[in-house]
Amino acid sequence: MKLTVSYNSQISFQDNGAPYSLQFDDIYFDTESGCQQSEQVFIEGNQINARIYNSKQPLIIGETGFGTGLNFFLTAYKLLQAITNKDEADVTNIHFISVEKYPLSKAQIAQSLKMWPDLQPIINQTLAHYPDTPKEKCEISLLNGKLKLTILFDDATSALSTLNLAKNGKINAWYLDGFSPAQNMEMWSEGLFEQIARLSADDATLATFTVAGFVRRHLTNVGFRVMKKLTPGKKKQTLVAKFQQASSSGKGYMLRPSVNKAQHVTIIGGGIASACLTYLLVKQGVKVTLICKDEEIAQGASSNAIGALYPLIHLKQDEISEFYVSALLRAREVYDELLAAGYTFAHQWCGLLELSFKEPLQKRQHKFEQKPVWPENIILGVSAAKASALAGVTLNNGGMFMPQAGWIAPSELVKVLFKAASDIGQVKIKHNIDVSEISQKADNRWQLTTNKGLLEASVLIVCGGAESNLLRPINQLPLTPVRGQVSEVSTEHYSQQLQTVICHKGYMTPVHQGKFCIGATFNKNDRDTHSRADDDQFNINMVSEALPELPRIELSHIIGSKARLRATTPDHLPIAGPVPIIKEHTEIYGKLAEDKNWKIHTPAPYYKSLYVMSGLGARGLCSAPLIADILVADLCNLPYPVDNKMRFNLSANRFIVKDIIKRKLKPE
Ligand code: SAM
Repeated sequence: MKLTVSYNSQISFQDNGAPYSLQFDDIYFDTESGCQQSEQVFIEGNQINARIYNSKQPLIIGETGFGTGLNFFLTAYKLLQAITNKDEADVTNIHFISVEKYPLSKAQIAQSLKMWPDLQPIINQTLAHYPDTPKEKCEISLLNGKLKLTILFDDATSALSTLNLAKNGKINAWYLDGFSPAQNMEMWSEGLFEQIARLSADDATLATFTVAGFVRRHLTNVGFRVMKKLTPGKKKQTLVAKFQQASSSGKGYMLRPSVNKAQHVTIIGGGIASACLTYLLVKQGVKVTLICKDEEIAQGASSNAIGALYPLIHLKQDEISEFYVSALLRAREVYDELLAAGYTFAHQWCGLLELSFKEPLQKRQHKFEQKPVWPENIILGVSAAKASALAGVTLNNGGMFMPQAGWIAPSELVKVLFKAASDIGQVKIKHNIDVSEISQKADNRWQLTTNKGLLEASVLIVCGGAESNLLRPINQLPLTPVRGQVSEVSTEHYSQQLQTVICHKGYMTPVHQGKFCIGATFNKNDRDTHSRADDDQFNINMVSEALPELPRIELSHIIGSKARLRATTPDHLPIAGPVPIIKEHTEIYGKLAEDKNWKIHTPAPYYKSLYVMSGLGARGLCSAPLIADILVADLCNLPYPVDNKMRFNLSANRFIVKDIIKRKLKPE
């Protein structure tokens, strides 16, 4: 069908040149804030500034309502700035696809944007190729092909329905513009959202200026997780969303249940996992009841005097390291936020040195230094001289240094997190309650059998560390308790004062309150929490083997030791999310045993309202905040902070799916 496109005559211009739609009785953009509003809503809402620096894949942006092109020109300007600041090869290619039913002419666009001198060069370059007479489509290549603009001059829904994008060419970021829904119901139709979902890449982001309820509902219905965002300007609230529940992916087992926002959750725990979760949940207005088996919180693995904030970073960009790098950054953000709010806990962001104390480690360090795969603010190779300067003691070897890591007094941090949570919202802590069994009642509520009688929970999260796997059905997950003994060394006989955490086979911390810690032993399936002199000796031997240059620690220097249990998983990643029903998994996904690429859309079967956060191993101080964010997103229906793949890598059902594929699990 031939379209008749004409340039829009129903606009007027204000004194500053800004256009006004007489047809929709609405502005094209807010001129009071300069470009600030467009920038805050669309560019920041989609984190375009950061994504421009990812040269690995092109960034494909979709927009509804090209209008004056302001959003496009601002995006182009950001790209141009990035190319000026960086090597062009490090900057992404952008394809900007926009739709416009009532296009403006060249002269109207030029007139509308004349108030922004910085944008003029890119506006002029673009308008030189903009059609003089209206067409159905225009395609313009700019900045030596780094930037491509496609405008489809048609109604948004029908234009998008004609688009066929390759699987790796789908839209990564949406700018949902268009006049306000109240003024322009025609554009904001259900069909538009279906097209947006059809054309979205996995983890596509979306930003729009409207927070209208029906827009949020439509987005949720087609697979977006939606969140209101506070913006400083006139708009106050805008919407951001992430396409994270794409049932079209053919990997139904990656889907998580979408729930109505939880009002009240019950958490079994009392350590760093439940503390971070409580703090982040109450920030979303959720009430929390904590069930703690001890007289006080932080009596388990979080009770050590000093704990390392220690990410697991391999010297290649694998999925484990990617998780821990994101986790470290998020942990620092949450802990620094507490410190900035005036809460205190003993800590030092003194960095952490992974000692290259053996030849293979030195080779590995050398290889990394030749071709670094992580930025220097995350991890960098340091020589023995540099390492000695950082550590404040003379070391024989260099190593890999993580400047943002350090140490924390875990029990102080856990207490501060619960205190901050109670200062913000409603937190009830019930002590001395030992849960021996959980079961789901007919009304879906969870019943807890405890030493103090029966309790009930509408939503239950098990954060019980190594004890989580004593409870059915959590005990069906591959969580292994590992006994770790940490020894406290008096500084009285030991004059060396470390300035950074040192990790080798074990670790050694700087001094805090007259002692430092060395550790830790690693005994799988040993649930004994009594300290052993043999284990203190083991810790001492690990230090003298890796650091023979330091004065020897003697057993008589040990002034305390603590053995606690940590929960570990086979793939070194923690578990955060709903608890899977294993039998139903084997029934639904059994065919994956024959073909691991088999497409199945059926969402994963989970117990309703039962979640787990466990398997944090010895790195809970680092991983807890980010995986707590994931659970908060689960429970409050918010966008996930990690992409679909990483979320699945942290899901409890990853082990089941892998076992089905490896034919270790079959339907009964
Ligand atoms: N992004 C624009 C800019 O930077 O100037 C502002 C867009 S203005 C608020 C909304 C635009 O949506 C107008 O240009 C209008 O013509 C267009 N529009 C309205 N209804 C539409 C529809 N059904 N399909 C496509 N475009 C539409």
